[in-house]
Order: sequence, then structure tokens, then C-alpha cells
Amino acid sequence: MKILFATSEAYPLVKTGGLGDVSRALPQALKQHGEDVRILLPGYPSVLSQLSEIKEVCVLSPTHSFQESGRLVEALFPGSDLPLYVVESPGLYDRPGTPYLTPEGHDWPDNALRFGYLSHVAALICSGHLPMPWKPDIVHCNDWQTALVPVFLAHRGLARFPSVLTIHNLAFQGNFSPDWVQKLGFPTSSFHMEDLEFYGHFSFLKAGLVHATRVTTVSPTYAREICSSDLGYGLQGLLSHREKDLMGILNGIGPEWNPSVDPLLQAHFSVSDLRGKTRCKNALRKQLQLPVTPNVPVLGLVSRLTHQKGIDLLVDILDELMNEPLQLVILGSGDASMEQTLREAQPLFPEKLSVTLGFDEALSHRIIAGSDLFLMPSRFEPCGLAQMYAMAYGTPPVVHKTGGLADTVEGFDFNGPAKNQSTGFVFEDLTPQAFMNAIRSGLSQFQNKNAWQTLRKNGMKKDFSWTPAGAIYTALYKEIALPS
Ligand code: ADP
Repeated sequence: MKILFATSEAYPLVKTGGLGDVSRALPQALKQHGEDVRILLPGYPSVLSQLSEIKEVCVLSPTHSFQESGRLVEALFPGSDLPLYVVESPGLYDRPGTPYLTPEGHDWPDNALRFGYLSHVAALICSGHLPMPWKPDIVHCNDWQTALVPVFLAHRGLARFPSVLTIHNLAFQGNFSPDWVQKLGFPTSSFHMEDLEFYGHFSFLKAGLVHATRVTTVSPTYAREICSSDLGYGLQGLLSHREKDLMGILNGIGPEWNPSVDPLLQAHFSVSDLRGKTRCKNALRKQLQLPVTPNVPVLGLVSRLTHQKGIDLLVDILDELMNEPLQLVILGSGDASMEQTLREAQPLFPEKLSVTLGFDEALSHRIIAGSDLFLMPSRFEPCGLAQMYAMAYGTPPVVHKTGGLADTVEGFDFNGPAKNQSTGFVFEDLTPQAFMNAIRSGLSQFQNKNAWQTLRKNGMKKDFSWTPAGAIYTALYKEIALPS
């Protein structure tokens, strides 16, 4: 089957979070299942500069609703045989900063146009309106940035074109001023509750949820959670209404997250030989200028620094944690006030706390490999990849029981021996104290060498590959494909 995988980021060309990882690994897994899958990305500078042998597919001429012009180009996704289409439109995508934010950290004011245009081009590819030999059978869209693809298709008389919309995080909805309805070529009459409108805004995600053939999200528990008012962000009614078309499919992790070959690590290790992990731990501490003291556990955190990720819980227990014999290594970026708090805390504990603010792929791998416990107290978590990376790297995670964290981490059995299936430490109440207690359980197990080895190895032996998810998506595409 021919699948167009439309996305706003894909590692290593561009990544701000889990969507970037998924958009690289899932298409690859689908290809292994025999699908003809092609990725569509915007032409950000980081994308175009990493591609070789770029070929023009066609010119994108202005239309009556989009004055923008550009080119659709193609290349191979680096390091793979996956075809990649790129929408080149320098006025929209040739900018500094992240794909979504200015260098000062504000949303680009024309994000509706930038991602509306991406979705418009994807819809043109699906409808066969571009002079290109390849036409997809299915379009797979991801989050609000490409959620308008099924909406454009429906408004252009192609409501039956099979589409899958995956929600990677319902908290980001792409809600814009109603002015954008007409500016993106939709009739003003479509601005109502059953189409584009969501509490007075034009919501890309809501409109996509109305029109997509099927909706998926990235873990079974999150699929249930978003149908309730707690985590539905006002969309729970629509999602419950579409319940029979909604499915939670657990993400996997890509083959590059393998501690026995990871080129970003200073030493390698595997479930049968963990010696390299100690070398990674010591190299990490040297790199971050923490004392290399034996038998002191290192706790790691790699995350967006946001309320969603529960960083406020960590801030609340920071003093208590710093009284324990441990070292804490933090890598993240995000909320300015959280960054400030951590920046100020670091010099108070020079031997115990390392804070790196920013986005650093190599350091993220080194922290996940070199830590003993990995902290992930997310308030909610659609799937979460970092906890799976941590388990694969022999670093038991401490997680809040929510979404994909609940689906992937087997909580330590506090009353029994660690020879069960435990892979980490799970806390239920979203309170600093519950988080602290779970960390304390981790610290106490760390002292118990046999239990600790078992816990680590349980995580490392788990199959977090994309193979099962690839098979489920393939079956889903088959179900919705139009008869040829
Ligand atoms: P989300 O997509 O909500 O941010 P996930 O756990 O699904 O959370 O994926 C986050 C991804 O981004 C992981 O690969 C994680 O290692 C990475 N990451 C998060 N923050 C940073 C950072 N500051 N530097 C490097 N990688 C980061």
C-alpha cells in the first residue's frame, strides 16, 4: 500500500521531542512490513542542509487560497532507503529557531499558514493534483500541524480518501483566530461546532478529529484517558463520539537506541555484560564535572521542562533529594521560570547537581546510559519514549502511573522480591511526597545488588521494538483502504 506520512519533524533532520523520533522510526517499521511509505516534511534549513541529491518533483504555484509558491522536492531520508518529499517554501520555513518557535521562544505568528500550507500540499498529493507519478492510497497525519489534511480533502470533495490522524499530545491543538478560516481557503460557513470551530477558535486538531477516517493515539491507556474530562482538553465529547474509530497503539523505540552499539556513548554494554554501563556513568560524571564517587547513585532526567512533565514536583522535592547520598543530572529546556529555578539551584549543590539547559542529543543518550535511575514524573504522558530508552539502557525509571508510562513500566513490587517482572518504580498520587517515596524505594533497591541487577535486566530484556506497532498500523491501513 502507498502511504504518505505527513509530519512536521523527523529525527535526525529535525526533532523537538517524541514526534521527531516516531516520524523516523514508524515509517521505517512500516517499510519493513512491506508498505511503500513516503515522508512529507517542511523545508526547514536543518532539513535541506542534511539532504543530498535533491530532485525537483514539481513547482508549487500559488492558488486562489494560497499565494505562497515553492517547490516539492524529493530525496532519500538520510541513512535509509525511505523516500522523502520536502515542501520548499523559503518564506514559510527558512527561519531560525525551532520549527514552531522564534529564537525568543514565541510561537511564529503565521504558524496557521505555515502548517496549513504543509497540509494543503499533502492534500494536493493525495488528490492527484500535482504532476507526480506517485499517488498515495492512505495519508497518515500527525498532531495539529498536519491535522488539516483530511479537512482539506473533505472540503475538496474527497471526504472518502482514507486518512489516519495520530494524536501524539492532545494538549497541543493548533487553535487560531477565526480569521484564518477564510485565509486558508475554507468557507466561513464551515466555522461551526461540527467542523472547524472549537470554543470560538479555528482548531486544526479538532477539525482533523472530525474528518479523519481513523484516529489513533500512542498508547492504549492514553486513548481511554482522553475520552474523559480530566485529560480530554474539551475534546472528550468528540473523542467519545468517535470512540469506535479511536485506537491506542503503543509506540516503539528505534534501533539507534541500543546500548551495545550506540555511537554517542563512551562505552557499550548489553544485558549479558553490564560493565560498560559503569564506564558510561563515570564518563558522564567527568563530562559534567561531578565527583566520581563510588556507590553513589546517579539520577537522570531528560525532558521538556514543563508542567506536563511534572518538573514542578521535582522542584518541590529538590532540597529533600539533595540531602540524600546521590547525584542528580538534569538536561532540558522549556518553561522560563522552571529553567531559572534549576539554574539558580545548581551552584548550591556543586557536587551533587548538574543542570544543562538546552537540547543536546548526545548528552541525552549519555545521561540515559550513565544514570542508575531515570526520573519521569509526568502529569500526563501520551506514550513517552524516554522511559523506554531508560529501560533499554538498564536504567529503571521512576514514573507517575499515567498514559504510556502506565502501559510500559512494571512497578516494583514493594512487598515482594525483585525477581518478578518489575522494570521500574511507579507512583499513583500526583504529589511530591509520592514521587519522593518512589525515588526512595529506588534508592533502597539500588543498595540490594541482586535485586538491582534483576530489575535492570528485566527492563533490558523487554521488547520495545516497533515491530508490533508496525503490524497494527498495517492492519489498520488495510481496513480503511478503498477497494482498488
Ligand atoms: P515529548 O515528546 O512529550 O517531549 P517523549 O518522552 O515522548 O516526550 O520524547 C522526548 C524525546 O526528546 C526523547 O527522545 C528525549 O530523550 C528527547 N529530549 C527531551 N528533551 C531533550 C533535551 N533537552 N535534549 C535532548 N533530547 C531531549
